[in-house]
Amino acid sequence: MSTAIIGAGIAGLACADALGGPAGDVRMFDKARGPGGRMSTRRVEIDGVMTGFDHGAQYFTARDPAFVARVGAWAGAGIVARWPVAGDDAWVGTPAMNAPVRALAATQQVAWSTQVTALARDGNGWRLTCADGTQTGAFDRIVVALPAEQAAALLADVASDLAERAEAAPSEPCWTVMAAFAAPLPLPDVLRDRGDIGWAARNSAKPGRGPIETWVIQGSPAWSRAWIEAEGAAVADHLRAALAGLAGTPLPLALHVAAHRWRYARSGNAGAGAVWDSARRIGLCGDWLAGPRVEAAWRSGTQLAALMAAA
Ligand SMILES: Cc1cc2nc3c(=O)[nH]c(=O)nc-3n(C[C@H](O)[C@H](O)[C@H](O)COP(=O)(O)OP(=O)(O)OC[C@H]3O[C@@H](n4cnc5c(N)ncnc54)[C@H](O)[C@@H]3O)c2cc1C
Repeated sequence: MSTAIIGAGIAGLACADALGGPAGDVRMFDKARGPGGRMSTRRVEIDGVMTGFDHGAQYFTARDPAFVARVGAWAGAGIVARWPVAGDDAWVGTPAMNAPVRALAATQQVAWSTQVTALARDGNGWRLTCADGTQTGAFDRIVVALPAEQAAALLADVASDLAERAEAAPSEPCWTVMAAFAAPLPLPDVLRDRGDIGWAARNSAKPGRGPIETWVIQGSPAWSRAWIEAEGAAVADHLRAALAGLAGTPLPLALHVAAHRWRYARSGNAGAGAVWDSARRIGLCGDWLAGPRVEAAWRSGTQLAALMAAA
């Protein structure tokens, strides 16, 4: 059984990992240049020091026994660590949030910088068309491991019923500002729900980060929605001013400032966990089927692999 997985975020990779073994003829396709998805890390050089910002997921929990075991193995390998300031069961990747995704991807065949733009099925199976116009060979089955809106767009022409299920679980956007400063800010490491700021954290306080004072500031869901089409520079100015207001003092000299617009940040929850359509040999996984969290996305991918194996 050959399988194409579109989307190498934590859900798609968990599925590939669980399908694994010699029988697992799996190939993955991801439009990004490297591993992370919404657990990405942005790396920039600041004053000659390579510095990372976790600009997607900030931390993750591990409550499901299978995920607890997996996170335990990652901890043993030194690629995750607890971050108690965010909660008793909060974990982060080390040295950056994308570390566990990177480790999973290293065991798979992933074609990076490869956006899949269309799907087609003929007598031999499923073929994928990529953004550069190339078409893959035929796969026996496909897995769509994308945010709901992107899954819906890809499925619309080949499985409109599945596309409608994805459309029924829309996501919330999130504007995220990454800032580095010449001196520490007089603030606690984590701030939650402070007006236009939904979350702000001293990224450099996470275990294994670099020496430069770095912050990740997220707009609240309502504010991000209202400002979704704004310019990144205006967003950065506004959220930095809001942070200065919380600090009660002007911020120190900024060494680096950037903004990132996540159009599909926080997923809905269609509740199915995962979907396997054995007649058409299409699988769906991702956080939008299980809940807006890293752990739920991992569970969704693992659950889909079990459904496929059972079929
Ligand atoms: C700002 C932000 C903050 C968050 N905070 C937290 C948090 O604190 N705790 C927590 O648990 N969760 C958090 N989350 C949610 C968490 O990151 C996600 O639930 C989880 O990473 C989703 O994984 P996924 O594999 O389902 O999707 P993704 O990680 O989005 O993976 C999908 C992949 O598909 C690729 N792709 C998209 N379209 C195509 C295409 N057409 N062709 C090929 N590839 C494509 C993308 O490049 C991506 O790598 C946050 C998310 C964001 C954005």
